[in-house]
Amino acid sequence: MFPRKKIIIIGGGITGLSTAYFIQEKLKEQKIPADCLLIEADDRLGGKIRSVQTDDFIIEGGPDSFITQKKWGLELCRRLGLEDRLVQTNPLDKAIFVLTKGKLQPFPEGFNLMIPSRMMPFLLTPLVSPLGKLRMGMDLFIPKRDSNDDESIASFVRRRLGNEAVRKFAEPILAGIFAGDAEKLSIKATFPQFTALEQKYGSLITGMRARARQGKSAGNTGSKPTYSMFVTLRDGLSSIVTELRKRLDSVEILTGQAVEQVNPTSGGYEVLVGSERKPADALVVTCNTHTSAGWIEHWNRPLSTLLREIPYVSTATVSVGFKKSEVKHPLKGFGFVVPREEKCGIMASTWSSTKFAGRASKEHVLIRTFLGGAHREEVIGRNDEDLITMVRQDLKAILGIDAKPVVVKVFRWIKANPQYHVGHLDRVSEIEKHVQKHSGFFLTGAAYRGVGIPDCIEQGQATASKVIASITD
Ligand SMILES: Cc1cc2nc3c(=O)[nH]c(=O)nc-3n(C[C@H](O)[C@H](O)[C@H](O)COP(=O)(O)OP(=O)(O)OC[C@H]3O[C@@H](n4cnc5c(N)ncnc54)[C@H](O)[C@@H]3O)c2cc1C
Repeated sequence: MFPRKKIIIIGGGITGLSTAYFIQEKLKEQKIPADCLLIEADDRLGGKIRSVQTDDFIIEGGPDSFITQKKWGLELCRRLGLEDRLVQTNPLDKAIFVLTKGKLQPFPEGFNLMIPSRMMPFLLTPLVSPLGKLRMGMDLFIPKRDSNDDESIASFVRRRLGNEAVRKFAEPILAGIFAGDAEKLSIKATFPQFTALEQKYGSLITGMRARARQGKSAGNTGSKPTYSMFVTLRDGLSSIVTELRKRLDSVEILTGQAVEQVNPTSGGYEVLVGSERKPADALVVTCNTHTSAGWIEHWNRPLSTLLREIPYVSTATVSVGFKKSEVKHPLKGFGFVVPREEKCGIMASTWSSTKFAGRASKEHVLIRTFLGGAHREEVIGRNDEDLITMVRQDLKAILGIDAKPVVVKVFRWIKANPQYHVGHLDRVSEIEKHVQKHSGFFLTGAAYRGVGIPDCIEQGQATASKVIASITD
């Protein structure tokens, strides 16, 4: 009899949990005798997915939804029996605003992140100056770039749509999604769909209009249920974590135990947790790269250096709930973003109770603001009281809300948001080449090939297949 194979997964965020889930499925399907252990430093599972329920609110500390255009989030929800708990975005009040000289200007209809696909709303919007519109329209005539080299989001948008589009859209919206700096973030690693549009159609506007037409006709065929671009779950995104935890009946889960060291051994790896050394034939590391770089330094220094080259920024979310009767602002929309040039401490604000049904009871409203990120990172060091004061001052100045909150929750994400800077994809390919030299060793998760929940699930699924291949070789 051969000894049972041992698999260890470090990190119980969505990547680690989905890796464990798909490994368990494959072990059962293929009747492979193996033990799987997941180790999480925190007392709770879920990593950045963190929903808090009170009598009147469902508050998300990290992600509040996931994109449906990438199938892996929806697919996992279906597998977990969560499909009937999916909540779509509000179809009626879906305006997004941009803070402009202290006032909220609606994003013109037909805009896809920054590309106008409908002419009239674009021509009429006061959000962009006449010269800015002219410059954005030149996208129709500017030839596509020959080079396949990576460039920053700002450089790409400046080249195609001009400087005003960088300030009004690329910085607060595109880079805002990553809490990053548009001058540094890689367009290829963050929004490859835009470089693909340029290459295919020669123009972003032409490409977006063509896609919109195709999208419409595809929707009409409609045998499958169609979802809004983002969805959440009725009781909060943590339901995915809870359901995954329930299904992981053959995976041993340790929480509240931080891995301190990882060493290669003659036949595999050894993971140091507290005073115990746990052996593994296959080891999956899903935590941030500054932690894993430290473990790897003494057995693959170049890999450790590459991992350290992935920067992280800190952010915080501050959710504030009010009595609806005390808020005069109608909050008709999903929220607003704040361009850097605006004198404002916050990065963006989501009107959670408008965006998704059930985030607040009928008598209440819930607003969530984002703080920190590449341009405002220093504020994250302030204490909770200061952050709350700052948020309340900004909400008063912008929305006229000076009611006393009935609930306030602050969540900090210290050096937790990986930044895909220019060259990220090449760096990740290099990392993967190094990793391949270590049989049974895997690095996966938000630091590498996509930060969104569906990306992390996809990476978990792909890693599970590699793990199974490695232990059955
Ligand atoms: C404020 C915010 C808003 C976001 N909004 C969205 C959104 O709306 N939609 C979306 O799709 N994505 C969003 N994201 C991104 C998304 O939430 C993350 O990229 C994703 O959840 C990361 O999952 P992960 O498992 O790779 O990493 P994590 O969730 O960070 O999990 C890694 C785990 O490893 C553990 N760990 C670390 N060190 C050790 C150790 N030494 N030993 C054991 N365990 C360890 C950590 O405790 C953690 O639980 C948001 C992120 C943030 C911060």
